Amino acid sequence: MNFTTSRAIFAKTEKLIPGGVNSPARAFGAVGGNPLIIDRGAGSKIYDADGNEFIDYVLSWGPLIAGHAHPAVIEAVGRAVREGLGFGAPTRGETEIAELLIALSPSLEKVRLVSSGTEATSSAIRLARGYTGRDKIVKFRGCYHGHVDSLLVAAGSAAATFGVPNSPGITAGCAADTLVLEYNDSEGVKDAFSRWGKEIAGVIVEPVAGNMGVVPGTPEFLGTLREATRAAGSVLIFDEVMSGLRVALGSAQARYGITPDLSTFGKVIGGGLPVAAYGGKAEIMDAVIPVGKVFQAGTLSGNPVAVAAGLATLKILAGTENFHADLEAKTTRLAEGLEEAARRAGITATAQKCGAMFTLFFNDPADRGVTDWQSAARCDEKLFARYFWGMIERGIYLPCSQFEANFTSSAHTDEDIDRTLDAARELFASF
Ligand SMILES: *Cc1c(COP(=O)(O)O)cnc(C)c1O
Repeated sequence: MNFTTSRAIFAKTEKLIPGGVNSPARAFGAVGGNPLIIDRGAGSKIYDADGNEFIDYVLSWGPLIAGHAHPAVIEAVGRAVREGLGFGAPTRGETEIAELLIALSPSLEKVRLVSSGTEATSSAIRLARGYTGRDKIVKFRGCYHGHVDSLLVAAGSAAATFGVPNSPGITAGCAADTLVLEYNDSEGVKDAFSRWGKEIAGVIVEPVAGNMGVVPGTPEFLGTLREATRAAGSVLIFDEVMSGLRVALGSAQARYGITPDLSTFGKVIGGGLPVAAYGGKAEIMDAVIPVGKVFQAGTLSGNPVAVAAGLATLKILAGTENFHADLEAKTTRLAEGLEEAARRAGITATAQKCGAMFTLFFNDPADRGVTDWQSAARCDEKLFARYFWGMIERGIYLPCSQFEANFTSSAHTDEDIDRTLDAARELFASF
């Protein structure tokens, strides 16, 4: 495969933009080499600057659950654009998308639109603190909640201590109110709540972790979070920016039957444009300005063009019979097929999935699978890099890190899945 044009464009971009990328997940640091410059997408496929075609399992990192350039989404965006790009005043689309999100999500009574997942999580954290009048926040190692200062925090040296910054530029003070615990460790949660329960404003968690690769929370773990927060008067926040409307129409909260106090959404609800949201119990949401005193605002929040893309996408999900069941069946066939292809070639790999997201982990044979950050970190990243480039050469575009989720869309056909599995079989046999 020829990447000459991508290479030339990227060489120029690197001089203009740090690392040549506007978000670090796009850099090929973990796999080596240069990112491809993507010119366009249609359905399940993307096309790079050299004209190479790929079946895409990145899907803009999750939003494009109906595939690239879905006609209904493009039509809705086109209509919105012709009516003006934004007014900074309420529009009909905002009412409609709020109504639909509330109808679909078990925990939502009120919702506020923002423009990125990071804005949603930082607003939810501020709200949890403002509502409870407490400072401390619990997060879990391996979960990502956007680039919020108080959440870019690593665990301290002892098993349960308040955090230390894991990026330069974050003050020790910002990190000191964040307690970092291990994912899927119910005992750690109980222990932390027995020590600090009355000081904890909230717990933020990805109910299905997707940012250390796909690691579903166990029902027992998520149930423990629900009980512990309720007993302590803390706010339980499900960060469903990735899992929202992807693992089920009602998101992970419906799948698990656990109702958080607040939830955050992004990715799918914007259908590829910048829409995100946070919402939950009316009593908590009414603590937000202008009803309450917790400040949060946004010039472009609820932008009509972005909302049109989100609404059109949500209408596809809600209006297509068996949308999620069909997508999950396809995803399961793909994930299990990849694991089987690896096994036949004598390679240890575990496919973990939930709904329409999955990761093929080249995990440590001593581990049953990946349940937390420690077992994720034991995966073979060198083997992953060979897998990544081998699949690129065979026309399959995967996320460029072992610790990312792969996504499927309704545009992926059975033939796409077959072609992907054939590529993996051929590749693994060559290892
Ligand atoms: C992507 C993601 C975010 C951040 O969203 P941005 O729109 O990139 O700011 C937050 N939480 C989770 C779980 C995510 O997957």
